[in-house]
Amino acid sequence: MSQPRKRSGGPVRLTTSSATALRPAITSEITGGMWAHRRQINRDVSIPAGWNRLHQAGNFHNLELAAGRTTGDYVNDLPFLDSDVYKWLEAVAWAFADPALDSSLADLLRHWLDETERLLRDAQQPDGYLDSHFQVRFPGERFVQLKWGHELYCAGHLIQAAVALHRTTDDAGLLEVARLVADLVVNTFGMQPGKVDGVCGHPEIETALVELYRETGAEPYLAQARYFVDRRGHGLLGDGRFGRHYWQDHVPVRDAASVEGHAVRQLYLLAGVADVYAETSDAELLEALKRLWAEMAASKTYLTGGIGAHHSDEAFGDPYELPNERSYCETCAAISSIMFSWRMLMITGEAKYADLMERTLYNGLLAGLSLDGQRYIYSNPLQVRDGHVARGNDHDYERVEWFHCACCPPNVMRTLASLEHYVVLGSDTRAVLHQYLSGRYAAGVAGGEVWMEVATDYPWDGTVTIRLAEAPAGRWELALRVPHWAEQPTLTVNGTPVDTALTDGWWVVSREWNGGDEVVLVLPLEPRFTVADPRLDVARGAVAIEYGPLVYCLEAVDNPGHRLDDLTVDIAVAPKVGPVNDSLGGVATIRTAGRVRPRTSASWWPYTSADARARDELGESVALTAVPYYAWGNREPGAMRIWVPTT
Ligand SMILES: [Zn+2]
Repeated sequence: MSQPRKRSGGPVRLTTSSATALRPAITSEITGGMWAHRRQINRDVSIPAGWNRLHQAGNFHNLELAAGRTTGDYVNDLPFLDSDVYKWLEAVAWAFADPALDSSLADLLRHWLDETERLLRDAQQPDGYLDSHFQVRFPGERFVQLKWGHELYCAGHLIQAAVALHRTTDDAGLLEVARLVADLVVNTFGMQPGKVDGVCGHPEIETALVELYRETGAEPYLAQARYFVDRRGHGLLGDGRFGRHYWQDHVPVRDAASVEGHAVRQLYLLAGVADVYAETSDAELLEALKRLWAEMAASKTYLTGGIGAHHSDEAFGDPYELPNERSYCETCAAISSIMFSWRMLMITGEAKYADLMERTLYNGLLAGLSLDGQRYIYSNPLQVRDGHVARGNDHDYERVEWFHCACCPPNVMRTLASLEHYVVLGSDTRAVLHQYLSGRYAAGVAGGEVWMEVATDYPWDGTVTIRLAEAPAGRWELALRVPHWAEQPTLTVNGTPVDTALTDGWWVVSREWNGGDEVVLVLPLEPRFTVADPRLDVARGAVAIEYGPLVYCLEAVDNPGHRLDDLTVDIAVAPKVGPVNDSLGGVATIRTAGRVRPRTSASWWPYTSADARARDELGESVALTAVPYYAWGNREPGAMRIWVPTT
């Protein structure tokens, strides 16, 4: 059966009264380039494999138990296994809007979707309650284990899946299931007598409830999201194993000065706060959002856009505490950072939010997935040492097919499947292209719809050609983002150089446009060395190699014969683009000059006098080869590093 493709909106669809500077595109389609390829693998390999992996891991079995269809024990000790099914369902929902979805795969996905929907209906209790962990392991116990129970977190992911499916296919079946859950949440939680005054240990329901409000127009969902935002930070959850900061219950978000605690919890919460702000215009929330994003970006974000410095509690560390080999950088944290930044971009119209989105997409997120779409990594290190011993930890240094705690894989799937929505925005006066992905996009301005056809080989080439297939009459602005790293970009309209000032990261051309007008933006791409703030101790005296939006790394396999920790980079010699590496999907390599550091001053332990170290020779010259960080770990295991000491 063929799929209806409603194509009305992505993960965020604003209301007419939303307080944002920019609105999502009217329609979007990625048609070529690196991301189209990654989305094809996601659609044709990762998502179909997800069905099998979720069955093998017991997620469906647990729902079958809740539905009374089978017998046995709940598989896995984690309470949030349902959420993996929901994130996968959301990915399936977005895939239905992909024009390149093959009809036989569409039929198969539809079949799986129908089966899952029947299963969820069977498992759902008459009053709407649906959570296999509690139904099977703690029957009758509801909303009493809010610290670790994840009931509202799971509900949030169900709601997002249902909204996505409704948007892409008109299918209201899953939305009915989700609304029953949401109505139960609305009727259960609040400060009125007889209600539970509480919040979930893992934020997620906030952003989901706002989106359900946007989809249905039912205001109680928005009020409930606002309640959850306002009640967090008052100690309702108590201390738990990692303290109140872990679940952001130490201070109300309005008063928070810094991002704290579990990174994914913090950023899902802030995405939800941004949604609540957008629908309520609560200025205090906006001030908090700006403050917290700025603090995170300035001192708690890795070069890759990765977030989270602590393994023990998957959490933010202190300012500038960003260790390389023990970076946490959970793939889900990269995704939640993109969710937060995208909402801030819409709310404020400021380019810096799109800059961080880009950096995180190309590096922190994409490294979480193998090139073949079959394996995932949970924590993304910036360095793997020579002599590293794999110790069998799920969360360590190597991509695997699935995890005991499998939050990341379906999160990657839903993000890639909806990626086309993260490219173009618009307002009454302006059409905004903020990410450079080949495709067709339409933004609404006051005079009508602006249809852009974008062609580019970015990030391998910095030329972006935008043809206006349709241009409404009257004067309006086309805004193109110039990334913070771009030097001497050029812009032409119909071949004529444009003399217009670059303002806060945007190149804005205001004129009366005609259909067929062609705009060419050139972002000159040269490999470059990047240094870190001196307070970032682990990168002091070292450089990273970058090329356009890509962070590069050294891998042992490309630099044979040496230990990576003996290599230094000679920054007096400019790095150059090297041969294309086809085994990594056609990536550009970067060549740079370096040295092999001698060990003349080494003693029986790793310390020596500063005078002796100062007399060390530079060491023999060596040519170093770097590859994009996102492609690391796709060949034989070995050392890897992003920050390399200078010669
Ligand atoms: Zn995760």
